[in-house]
Amino acid sequence: AATIGSDVLVTWLRLADAAIAERADELTELDAAIGDADHGTNMRRGMAAVVEAVDAGGPGGADALLKKAGMTLVSTVGGAAGPLYGTFLLRMGGALKDVGAIGSTSLADAVEAGVGGLVARGKAAEGEKTMLDAWYPALRALRGHPEDIVAATRAAADAAASGRDATEPMIATKGRASYLGERSAGHIDPGAASTAIIVDALARAVAG
Ligand code: ADP
Ligand code: MG
Ligand code: MG
Repeated sequence: AATIGSDVLVTWLRLADAAIAERADELTELDAAIGDADHGTNMRRGMAAVVEAVDAGGPGGADALLKKAGMTLVSTVGGAAGPLYGTFLLRMGGALKDVGAIGSTSLADAVEAGVGGLVARGKAAEGEKTMLDAWYPALRALRGHPEDIVAATRAAADAAASGRDATEPMIATKGRASYLGERSAGHIDPGAASTAIIVDALARAVAG
């Protein structure tokens, strides 16, 4: 497939909600090791609210959909991850304004805008043991398949999973885990783990 419509993005949000709910305990356990044991609970609550908001609203374009989802995350999730993912979706939606059929390059541009939002909000860089360590590899993988959005999103999901795993030896220098200093090493970052779940949901939605 060369392009997707906003219906696929609705499917993405639904699949992400289901996968986050299924793996919420795992995310909370990761956060128990280097944070405050709420990442799974935060994300499950936020994604459930997103699906509720999407169900309540009529059909809209990708821009309106992702802005609504982002606003919902910002307002329902306390903690770092809600505003971060919320900003990601707001910026991603903004980048898809006026884009009709979404191809691999438009999607990569939108994800890049989302990552820009994460950086603007969280002031982190790659290698600081955050969700960015899953998003950046995912974005590079997307760019590697400009003609094929199915291959691009599958490669992005695989890259996000590798990025998640690569956070294990890292020492956190941003967010709550940074309070542990060197003792943060030896644990996977919970936000990188939730990002891998969300990008995998995107690949499954796009594959249809
Ligand atoms: P909190 O730490 O407030 O309890 P969560 O547990 O929901 O929030 O989310 C923690 C995750 O947020 C971390 O695992 C990390 O991936 C991400 N995170 C925290 N601070 C930043 C930041 N400054 N930039 C990017 N991601 C961050
Ligand atoms: Mg936490
Ligand atoms: Mg918290």
